[in-house]
Amino acid sequence: MQEAVLRARSAQQAWGAMTPASRARALRPWWRRILAGMGELADALVAETGKPRFEALFHEVLPLLDSIRYQMRHVPRHLRPRRIPLHLARHRRSELVPVPLGVVGILAPWNFPVAVGVGDAVTALLAGNAVVLKPSERTPGSSRLLERWWREAGGDPDLLIVVEGGPEAGQALIAARPDHVVFTGSVGGGRHVAVAAAERLIPTTLELGGKAPAIVMPDADLEATARTLVWGAFANCGQVCAAIERVYVPRELWAELLGLVRQQVAGLRPGFDVGRPTMPEATTRWDAQIEDAVARGAEVMRPAASFPSPYYAPAVLAPCPPDARVMREETFGPLLPMCPVMDVSEAVHLANDSEVGLLGYVFCRDVAAGRALAARLETGTVMVNEVILTHAMPETPWGGQKDSGWGRVHGTQGLDAMVHWRHLNMPRMPWGFKPWLHPYEERWSALAERWLPRVWRP
Ligand code: NAD
Repeated sequence: MQEAVLRARSAQQAWGAMTPASRARALRPWWRRILAGMGELADALVAETGKPRFEALFHEVLPLLDSIRYQMRHVPRHLRPRRIPLHLARHRRSELVPVPLGVVGILAPWNFPVAVGVGDAVTALLAGNAVVLKPSERTPGSSRLLERWWREAGGDPDLLIVVEGGPEAGQALIAARPDHVVFTGSVGGGRHVAVAAAERLIPTTLELGGKAPAIVMPDADLEATARTLVWGAFANCGQVCAAIERVYVPRELWAELLGLVRQQVAGLRPGFDVGRPTMPEATTRWDAQIEDAVARGAEVMRPAASFPSPYYAPAVLAPCPPDARVMREETFGPLLPMCPVMDVSEAVHLANDSEVGLLGYVFCRDVAAGRALAARLETGTVMVNEVILTHAMPETPWGGQKDSGWGRVHGTQGLDAMVHWRHLNMPRMPWGFKPWLHPYEERWSALAERWLPRVWRP
């Protein structure tokens, strides 16, 4: 691992010295290679994760291509030096100049190996860094393929290095002292990474788990809401950090919404709409959460089709009390627990009663009311009448509050995290008058005490 970071560090010198625009041009052949091979990349993702090919293409490959294309155009503009107008010291000129960090270590999860791990590598590269990417030990294949295409497209092999292994390899990467660590994964893993990085004073971006609440407001379009809830809970077999993991429904809507959700779920097909669990052992956790919910009075609604192994039939659990395990612990699987509430205020209280805060969702017709409700949710992002998709909007920031982590990827905030904004302070004009230098003269103190209260008028 040490060797990988050293190689990356040496390759970064020349890369970091290039202008952002020439780095963007250098990424273009790789982007073209991915475009030409998108079917092959989708197949690799299907093989390693078990997601439907539609999802591999639309949730991973196309967002990656779009994100690279968007960033190649916009990163150079964002990384221009920025002037800071000075209000008092007008004889000086201040600028912020972006300086690449050096080597960025990326520890990626298995649920979106390309959209998350490689997507974050693109921002780091365009900002002038070298990247050592450790994909999840469960899903190294797609990252390896993209690394190979990077080399075939003329990319310096030491600028984008994929290393393999589990948590121990992740720890070894941190011990090799990259200049920044982007970790996307579980809350538990994030804690270990934060400690290891803190010991070495390496800054981190932590993108951790979620338990996204959805609040249905009384005026919501129930048909559209039901379709979106079901997709938001079962896309990628529910293995999405931003998946809807709990729904709060005012009692007056309960029966109608539940009926519509039931209809939606009935038609789901194994392999086409819902892929297999990427990690078969996760189903033990899902079964335990269902068992607990049923013991607390929930009924289980499943699709009409059978879901033979290795598939797992997604399940709606309703009515689910707020203290059921499935309402509190991250499921990271195809379960949709629904909880009836008296009103929207109770829904907000329950939605915020969580240790994590990644995404939150609001369903309503009156978007102004939805916006006001969104302001009360303790999450990094709130979407109104839509779910999950902001991850595929590269211009918007992605990240959480509370135990969902710190820092942001994507958007200008994510890009800013990949550089130092060095402050440069320079003279604008020759100026010899410097009364603050030694030897001090009492008359300046007297002048300040006399005039400043008049000038500033408290
Ligand atoms: P994980 O924490 O097990 O592993 C994530 C990555 O970090 C893997 O590459 C793993 O090998 C490595 N790793 C794990 N423990 C480590 C340690 N102690 N030291 C160093 N490296 C370590 O997570 P996972 O099971 O791959 O992913 C699922 C989790 O990720 C879920 O909780 C999900 O909510 C979260 N997730 C969050 C986001 C987000 O954007 N916030 C996106 C996707 C997934």
